[in-house]
Amino acid sequence: MGPAKTIKVQERKILCEGDPHFPLGHPRVYLAIGDSRGVDCPYCGRRYILKKEEPKDD
Ligand SMILES: [Zn+2]
Repeated sequence: MGPAKTIKVQERKILCEGDPHFPLGHPRVYLAIGDSRGVDCPYCGRRYILKKEEPKDD
């Protein structure tokens, strides 16, 4: 077991299908970040966090 990955996204609608490089993929599921800051995929446990648009990018 490894730590769940946290992925920053710019859109509130996310398509997750697990890890394509490892036999731990899962059927495609659409996840939606509502008013919260993020959402966890119920299949692979990845956490998607909404990335704020910031003027600085370094
Ligand atoms: Zn997933």
